[in-house]
Parts: sequence; C-alpha cells; structure tokens
Amino acid sequence: MNMDAAVLTDVGEMEVQTRDRPEPDPGDVVVQVAACGVCMTDYHVYHGALGANTPVVLGHESSGEVVAVGDDVDGFAAGDRVAINPVLPCNACSACKRGDTHLCENNTSVGGAGEKIIDGAFAEYVRVPASNVERIGDVPYEYAALAEPLACCVHGADRANVTQGDSVALVGAGPIGLMLLQTLRNRGVAPIAVSELDEDRRDLAKKFGADLVVDPAEEDPVETIREEIGPVEASIEVVGKVATIEQAHAMTADGGTTLIFGVPDQDATMEVSPFDIYFNEIDIHGTYALTRESFERAVTLLRTERIDAASLITERIGLDDIPSAFDRMERAEGLKKMVVPGQEES
Ligand SMILES: [Zn+2]
Ligand SMILES: [Zn+2]
Repeated sequence: MNMDAAVLTDVGEMEVQTRDRPEPDPGDVVVQVAACGVCMTDYHVYHGALGANTPVVLGHESSGEVVAVGDDVDGFAAGDRVAINPVLPCNACSACKRGDTHLCENNTSVGGAGEKIIDGAFAEYVRVPASNVERIGDVPYEYAALAEPLACCVHGADRANVTQGDSVALVGAGPIGLMLLQTLRNRGVAPIAVSELDEDRRDLAKKFGADLVVDPAEEDPVETIREEIGPVEASIEVVGKVATIEQAHAMTADGGTTLIFGVPDQDATMEVSPFDIYFNEIDIHGTYALTRESFERAVTLLRTERIDAASLITERIGLDDIPSAFDRMERAEGLKKMVVPGQEES
C-alpha cells in the first residue's frame, strides 16, 4: 500500500512523493498521522543549518491512530490514539544508562534533528517503536501533537530550577515561549515577566498570565524588568540569539539561573564574566529536547487540560504547504502550524 510523504530531497528542497506505507518490525507500531506540528528545528534542517542525510522525511511533533502493531508488542492495538515521542535512545551508552536518553551518544530521531534521522511524520503513516508512543485518551489530535514541544518545555522548566513564588523572565514568546509560560504558571512560578517584539504574542502572554509584558522595541527589557520585579531567579532565553541571551543573563539574580532554550547558531560565541559567575554563583544552563519522563508528564498536562493548546495553533496545512510555512515562520507570522496529511486533497 502507498502513502504520501513530504520528502526532503536536498537542502531547501521538499516534495510530496508517493512511497510504500511502512510495515511494523517486531516491537514497532505504525501510526496513521493525524497531525504533525512544524517546528523551527524542521526549518533549520530544511535550510541546512542542521545537517541531515537526504532523502529523509522530517516531522517530529505528531499524533495519530495506531493502525498496525508488530510482533512482541504488548499493550497497544489498532485503533489506539497516541502521541509520538521522537527520541530513540540506544539504551547502551552511559548517558542512556543514567537516564539522560535525550543526551544519547547515538542520538537517533524520528523526523527530528539527530546524528541519525529516521523517517518522521510529515507523511500519512510513520513507524516507531511501541515504547515511543503514549496514549492520549480523547485529547484532540492537533492538541496531542503539541506533546513533544510541551515536553521540551517541561524539561526546560526543570532545568530552570525554579519553584512556587520564584520570579522568572522569559525573553521571547513564540510558540515555545508561550507554552513554557503556561508550564511555569502551572508550577506556581511568580511573578513572570515576558519580553517580546510581536504585539499579538505579547497579548497572548498577558492572556496566559504573564505579570509584566515588555516590548523591547519600546523600552529596555533589562531595565524595566529589573525596576518592576528586580533580578529574577531564572531568566530564560527562547530566541536563540547571542544578544537576547546576554539580555536574559543581565536579569539573573545572584544565585539564580540563566537558561538557554532557543537554538543558537552552532558557531556563535558570547562573552561572560567568569568573576560574576564565581562571585555571584550564577548558573548558566542549557536545555535540550525532552526526556521520556517529561514526555509522559506533557501528555498528562494535555489530558487534564492544563494547557491552552487551541490558542497556540493558528494554521492547518497540507503536506505540500510545508516550505511556504517555513517562510511564514521566518516572518514570525502566526504561531504553531499543524500539518494535517491529506489536507491538500480536500
Ligand atoms: Zn520541535
Ligand atoms: Zn544512548
């Protein structure tokens, strides 16, 4: 049987092709993709900033219905509604053994960035190990497709090392920043300040409960946030640029944490004062991808409606629309774009 898949054939080239529908190997399930979010990671792979062997099918933020199970799969059957965790740990390296599967030395991803990329969910069907799917109950598929980025936010909130009543500044409120904001609110983190250029995104940040929202084109976010809230227990950069990381770092209180969440250029460098790090005990943390645990917790948050998913999804597109969606992401138009395979035929 055949299926449509959006195949990355070279840097900057993607086309919808007819391919064989995957069959499950032992331990695998095949999922009919209902929704798959488009992510800045896809954008970076498409433009060659993150490497990938082509041809390959991207798409790592997906949900759908199990349609086939391989031998030795217990606990899943055709008809199950699931979200897919795209991280495939080797379970043999020392990172995997200590539970940091996201730092696996043999990092393999289903449709995401990694040393090795296997075909992802910008397709009508995708094959994954049964251990990588999580039941979603009756959560709408497009909300469930947010489980992967939400899991990154849950993991990021862990890495920010904050708890109830701790102050946080978020630099950048795109789809991820806005999901992270909700995750932090869930934890009782307060107050929360947000710096964001785009007016619609600032409005959503207010709606999601930010206590202070700053337009960095109008005022210096470092000054304003320091004045209104003071230095913060954690400042989180969700843009991926040195200038905004420096801004975030300048807001961090002594004993606090600066968290790099946005994806910086691989060859970017920045200056920090080692004396300040030493004397003020400021931690600089990174947060990369998600853990098995944070994925499970993200699905729970979606199932218990702790996240406003509807406000984050602004477009539904077909497999043939992905390259133009990248253009709109570059211009920061709208928020999450959901690929609904089969949409182009309707
Ligand atoms: Zn992603
Ligand atoms: Zn490993």
